[in-house]
Amino acid sequence: MFNVVRNEPAPASLSGKRKYDSEDVLTALRKVFHKKCYICETSEPSGVNVEHFIPHRGDEGLKYDWGNLYFSCDRCNNIKLAQYDDLLDCCDPNTEVVRAIKHKPPMTAYARKLDIEAQSNDQKTQMTAELLDRVFNSDHTPNKAVTASFLRHKVFDRYNLLLDQLNKYYAPVALDKEKEEALERIKLLIAPTAPYSAFISWCILEDEELRPLLDGYIGQT
Ligand SMILES: [Zn+2]
Repeated sequence: MFNVVRNEPAPASLSGKRKYDSEDVLTALRKVFHKKCYICETSEPSGVNVEHFIPHRGDEGLKYDWGNLYFSCDRCNNIKLAQYDDLLDCCDPNTEVVRAIKHKPPMTAYARKLDIEAQSNDQKTQMTAELLDRVFNSDHTPNKAVTASFLRHKVFDRYNLLLDQLNKYYAPVALDKEKEEALERIKLLIAPTAPYSAFISWCILEDEELRPLLDGYIGQT
């Protein structure tokens, strides 16, 4: 999960209160969420949904409220449904969603599981971690086209990009400018625009040398 700044005005079609997922809404959501599902962080997912963060249950106000519409992939939307209705809000500037839940990338491309760990005991953090655990680790989900195993593989691909940069940074004969360049590339991998940025951010948070250098870039919007 990653923090989002909703810096687009409410799309015009919402004022008609007839449709909440018109093209202008999708375009604005794509922009605000950097084309990523707000739950799994998959970039440009094959199926997208305009999701109601707080289930509207017929409430017109919630149904057409721009602030309640989130960009999610089909699979996460299916898993979330109305079951997970008390999640950490990635659009709330006072909630640091990256740091709230530890995301550990898988060790190998076909690792059976990856670790998701809530960093506190409050209800929202626990529920969000539970949802993320299902998204990345459960194969008993409604959408069979995208599986948890497929997602873990995609996370591993990003982790591999980080490993390339770590090898460059920590090479015994690395030049200062090469270290600088590696740091700049790591910043691209932890940026909220990057897929699976929470997983890469946590690798940095757990690194004693890199954390002080990059801490300020983690969770930045
Ligand atoms: Zn998703």
